[in-house]
Amino acid sequence: MFTLGCRVNQYETEAMAEKFIAEGYNIVGFDDCADVYVINTCTVTNMGDKKSRKMIHRARRKNGSAIIAVVGCYSQISPEKVSNIEGVDVVLGTRNKGDIIYLIKRVCLEHRKIIEVNDVLKNRVFEELNIDKYQYRTRAFLKIQDGCNRFCSYCLIPFARGAVCSKPPGKVVEEVKKLAQNNFKEVTLSGIHIASYGMDMKDDWNLAGILEEVDKIEGIERVRIGSIDPKFFTEGIINRIKRLKKLCPHFHLSLQSGCDETLRRMNRHYTVLEYEKIVKELRDEIKDVSITTDIIVGFPGETEEEFSKTYDFLNRIEFSKIHVFKYSPRKGTRAASMRKQIDGRIKEERSSKIIELDKKLEKQFMNKFLGKNMDVLYESQFEKNNDYYEGYTPNYIKVISRGKCGQNLEGKILNTELKSVKDGCVYGKIKSFI
Ligand code: SF4
Repeated sequence: MFTLGCRVNQYETEAMAEKFIAEGYNIVGFDDCADVYVINTCTVTNMGDKKSRKMIHRARRKNGSAIIAVVGCYSQISPEKVSNIEGVDVVLGTRNKGDIIYLIKRVCLEHRKIIEVNDVLKNRVFEELNIDKYQYRTRAFLKIQDGCNRFCSYCLIPFARGAVCSKPPGKVVEEVKKLAQNNFKEVTLSGIHIASYGMDMKDDWNLAGILEEVDKIEGIERVRIGSIDPKFFTEGIINRIKRLKKLCPHFHLSLQSGCDETLRRMNRHYTVLEYEKIVKELRDEIKDVSITTDIIVGFPGETEEEFSKTYDFLNRIEFSKIHVFKYSPRKGTRAASMRKQIDGRIKEERSSKIIELDKKLEKQFMNKFLGKNMDVLYESQFEKNNDYYEGYTPNYIKVISRGKCGQNLEGKILNTELKSVKDGCVYGKIKSFI
C-alpha cells in the first residue's frame, strides 16, 4: 500500500490495511512483489497527480499480473485518466474505501475493471472507517472530519472530498479509547477542514467539544490537532481549550498569504489583522505555544509589493515553521483562469526567500527553549545513528537524544534537557530513563 498526501489519507490507508489484515492478507512493503497494490492518491497539486501516476507505474513494473487499486483524491477528480493507465483494475474515489476488499474480489470474479467513483458533492454521510492500532507508529492520526465548504479559489479539494461531514462524537471517543488500550500515548485529530467539525450535526458539537471529551480518556497523554483554519480560534474557544490538560500547544494555522489583496483573490475568509490578533491571543493564553503555517507564493496577480507584505508579515509573526508552496494552477478552479499568472522563475525566487526566512525563524524559536527540560515522546531511532532516538516536545520541537544501551525508547515520554540546535532539530540529554 502506498499513501500520498495528507494525514487524512494516511488514516484511510491504515484503516484499509486493518481490513486487509482482518481478512487474512499479509501487508508487505510497496517495493516487494505483491498480489494486490493499493495506491491512495493525492491531487492537491500537479505534483500530487504526477507522483500518483508514478506509483501506479512502479506497482505495474513490480508485478505485471497483480491487481492494482487506485483510490483517493486523484481518482475522484480524474477517474478516466486513472482508468486509462495500463494495469489499473480498481478506480475508487474518496468515499467507500471500506469496500476495497469487496471490489478487489469482484475484479477476480468478473475479470474486468471496476470503477466506483460517486458524486461526493451530494454526500453528507461520514464514512465509517476505524483504526485499532497504527502499524509501525507511536503516534496515531485519527480522521474525525471530511469535506470542505470553503472553496478557496485555488483548491480542488472540495470537489474531491465533498461537503463537510463529521464522525459522531461517540465513535471518536470509542476509537481513541481503543488506541489508548493499544498503548498509544498521543493522537492527532485530523480532517480536511477540521475547524468545521460538527457543523453538519444536529446537536451543538464543535471541535472544542470533541477535544474536551478526548481529554478525559485515560491512557492518552497528548492530543494534537491537524492544520486548522485560524478563524476557529475565537475568544470563547481559546478560553475552553486553554483548560485542556492534554492538548499540545502547537497549532498549524494555514495563512497562505500575508497580504489582504492576495487573500481576497484566494477567497480566504480572514484579514492579516484578524490573523495577527488570533496569534497574539493564543500566545497570551497558552504557554510555550508554537505557531506554524503554510504559504503559497506566486499566486496569480501577486506583485512584488504583495509578496513583500507577506514576507514582512511572516517575519513579524515569527512562525516556528513555515511550509512554502509554489502556486500551481489546478484545472477547474477559479484561480487557474485568473489573469496575471506568475512566471515559474519568480515563484522559485520567492519560495527560496521564504525558505531562508523559515530557517532563521525556526532556529530562533528553538533557541528560546535551550537549557529547559521538556517531555519528549520518542518515536523512532534516528536514521543516522541507532544509539540515538528522535521525538517531539509538546510544542513540536524535534529532539534527538542518545538512548541507554539496548533500551528501546519508542513510545516513551522522557524528560529531556534541550542542549543545542543543529540542522532544524534540537539535540537533547535525557534526564530520567524509565
Ligand atoms: S479550506 Fe481552502 S485550501 Fe483548505 S481544503 Fe478547503 S478549499 Fe482547500
